[in-house]
Amino acid sequence: MKICASKGDIVAEITAAKSSGKRIGFVPTMGYLHEGHLSLAREIRKHCDVVVASLFVNPLQFNETSDYEKYPIDHERDFDLLKREGIDIAFVPAVTDIYQENSQTRVLVTELSKPLEGKFRPGHFEGVTTVVAALFNLVRPDVAIFGEKDLQQLRVIEQMVRDLHFPIKIIRGAIVREVDGLAMSSRNVRLSAEARSKALLLSRSLKHARELVQAGESSAVKVIEEIEKLYKDQDSVKLEYFSVADEDTLDEVTELLPGRPYRALVAASIDGVRLIDNSSL
Ligand code: AMP
Repeated sequence: MKICASKGDIVAEITAAKSSGKRIGFVPTMGYLHEGHLSLAREIRKHCDVVVASLFVNPLQFNETSDYEKYPIDHERDFDLLKREGIDIAFVPAVTDIYQENSQTRVLVTELSKPLEGKFRPGHFEGVTTVVAALFNLVRPDVAIFGEKDLQQLRVIEQMVRDLHFPIKIIRGAIVREVDGLAMSSRNVRLSAEARSKALLLSRSLKHARELVQAGESSAVKVIEEIEKLYKDQDSVKLEYFSVADEDTLDEVTELLPGRPYRALVAASIDGVRLIDNSSL
């Protein structure tokens, strides 16, 4: 596996691969890899010749400095995992490679960035789209993959690619969970054993919402009321939102109409660790 630690390195590698006609696949990550990330790497391999994975904790997408500072980083561990998966190139840029001196440009998807995460993390998606646009221009992938774990992020990127005519196919990767249902996340390592067991409420509440809808409930308002009860007496689990939204527009809905795809989406903090999850309904 080739490790590219600068803009010059990655541009040289990509230019060489492209000149020999190789199709480039890209898995952008913030590192501290887990099975969710690795499943994306395995999936994209089917669509390209050269797989590039980036490890970059993007300061621009953190609305809280303490969350940025506490984000786990272990590049050696990540390199081992990527080598085992047969990744061709690991791109580990410095912050100054991505945001050069006097960098001023921001990319914003105006509507899809507003609800849900957008309400609770001001500026978050502007940071995401700005970094992903910059990474796309450096890696020049033919295909890139994003996980449904971050459904709103995925939708925002799909919209950006369409609106700005990036010649890149976006693939969706399914959510990978621990055996007990907890969605895998790099932030899970910051949970104590007790907090981890409380965090199961996220996936359990999504399952309960799915069951209510399968049993015939078509009022999203009622589903949300029922779910919010589950969080009421859980002092250490701070619910930010539990929403039911149209999967494409991410508009929050009150009624579930037949034949439309809907998702329940949740965000909550457990002992200061903020987790998100979602499920089809
Ligand atoms: P992150 O390192 O958290 O920025 O995530 C990098 C990519 O991995 C994003 O496209 C995420 O949606 C995806 N991802 C993170 N966790 C999971 C998971 N549990 N299952 C599938 N994809 C995931």
